Amino acid sequence: MELNDVASDLKQVLFTEEQIHEKIAELCRRIEADYADEPPLLVGVLKGAVMVMADLSRELKLDAPQDWMAVSSYGSGTKSSGVVRILKDLDADLTGRKVLIVEDIIDSGLTLSWLLGNLRSRGAASVEVCALLRKPDAAKIEIDVRYLGFDIPDEFVVGYGLDYAERYRNLRGVGILAPHVYS
Ligand code: 5GP
Ligand code: MG
Ligand code: MG
Repeated sequence: MELNDVASDLKQVLFTEEQIHEKIAELCRRIEADYADEPPLLVGVLKGAVMVMADLSRELKLDAPQDWMAVSSYGSGTKSSGVVRILKDLDADLTGRKVLIVEDIIDSGLTLSWLLGNLRSRGAASVEVCALLRKPDAAKIEIDVRYLGFDIPDEFVVGYGLDYAERYRNLRGVGILAPHVYS
């Protein structure tokens, strides 16, 4: 689905598919340089990170395996609960592995902060973070993001994997959801 197909549901377009792909390619060049010795295990966080994982893993010139986790911190609303629950755990054993978490967005940072602690406690050699989007003004916890796509305003965004009540994930770009859709 194109940004134009849901233009009236968006308050503002933030990034087109082309801008996202360009940024992901930049991040991949850095990841390739940093992991030249040993490809990282890419850990995607379902469901939002599906598109980032798909594009990033294919752009990457490294034979990097993937694993997935599902956690819940948001319901169908637009506010973070801060309560994290594992809905689906990893298949891989992380002992001695170099892990790269692939995330769609860092909002409060609460989910990722919990996830970092959780993965580090499993004996990974390193755990780094790659996130396409970050809302600096919404941060409740400081997180060291090694590979960041874009900083965005503190507004609710959809597209490129990000949903509102399971809608808009298949949107190719990213936009700010218009308030009339959720109020
Ligand atoms: P955090 O714990 O950092 O507040 O956010 C956790 C998760 O909430 C993110 O990984 C993402 O799935 C979801 N989320 C945060 N901000 C947004 C947003 O603006 N739009 C959408 N669709 N999801 C968001
Ligand atoms: Mg996410
Ligand atoms: Mg969601």
